Amino acid sequence: MTEERVLEVWEQGLRQRPTTRGPLLATLAAHTGVEVTRLPLAALNSLLLELRSAAFGDTLACTADCPGCGEILDVAVSTRELRPPGADTESVPAEAGTATLATQGLAVTYRALTGGDLLAVDPDGPDARLALLRRCVVSVRPVQDPAQDPMREPVPDTVLEEVAQQLADLDPGADTTVALTCPRCHHHWSAAFDIAEHLWADIDGCVRRLLYEVHALARAYGWSEADVLTVSPARRQFYLEVAAQ
Ligand SMILES: [Zn+2]
Repeated sequence: MTEERVLEVWEQGLRQRPTTRGPLLATLAAHTGVEVTRLPLAALNSLLLELRSAAFGDTLACTADCPGCGEILDVAVSTRELRPPGADTESVPAEAGTATLATQGLAVTYRALTGGDLLAVDPDGPDARLALLRRCVVSVRPVQDPAQDPMREPVPDTVLEEVAQQLADLDPGADTTVALTCPRCHHHWSAAFDIAEHLWADIDGCVRRLLYEVHALARAYGWSEADVLTVSPARRQFYLEVAAQ
């Protein structure tokens, strides 16, 4: 992960919505040779957790509102807690698996949601959720005649809702949650945790500090941005300190 690459990704991410930043940030770990758009969400989350842990450490500091009493809790979550149960990156499938559901006389074959689906569907568009689910449907055939060619008619929304209920089993870890207990009212609950959003905030903070350094060194020494980036962080720190004297 070079500084140039991080700057590039940050600039692209500024123009994007939170849902598409996950697949974008995962491209920073492209050394794995995986195609981010084909990754099921659990594998995408795993990659982002690994990236976060390598670049900024294991501990994620966040806050949560207790639904019981409204207390705002400061929570430290470890990237290890957020991995899908029993999964390391190697064991999370890099391709979306499929399964078939028989309902309303139809045999619906569907696949897990992928990074590509997040990029393809406008989260603010009409029926964004159904649009995502529709992309998961691989084929639909009558239950009575599974050898028949796949049907072309749109899948009823009620069938899509049934597919939605099955997706978590097909891709455990697609939704990351943290188990929390309120120290004030002892309420237990499971809070959603978005690793992409967290990693984006880390990268945004890091890039803004880097750009400030570029600014300060450019002003002090007349260096260009490219010049500054070729100087190691330790030497940059030295030059910044000297320039401030
Ligand atoms: Zn509480």
